[in-house]
Amino acid sequence: MAFVITQPCIAEKSGECVSICPVDCIEAGEDQFFIDPNSCIDCGACVAACPVNAIVDENSLGPDQEFFLEKAESFFD
Ligand code: SF4
Repeated sequence: MAFVITQPCIAEKSGECVSICPVDCIEAGEDQFFIDPNSCIDCGACVAACPVNAIVDENSLGPDQEFFLEKAESFFD
């Protein structure tokens, strides 16, 4: 499992999550930040740091949010 950064990040891109991640697995993309699904240890620390509630655990993604996991996987490919 991993946490996934979704739609609200695109308008916000505030980046508070980056420094809070203990394994340094959040990186800036062109239009949003991405969590590396292979490095995320599921600690959940970034969830509370996000001012726009953009970070969702993989198992709670809605059908319209699954795209963001694929987008993250492609980013770190
Ligand atoms: Fe980093 Fe933890 Fe967020 Fe995963 S859940 S991206 S390890 S802060």
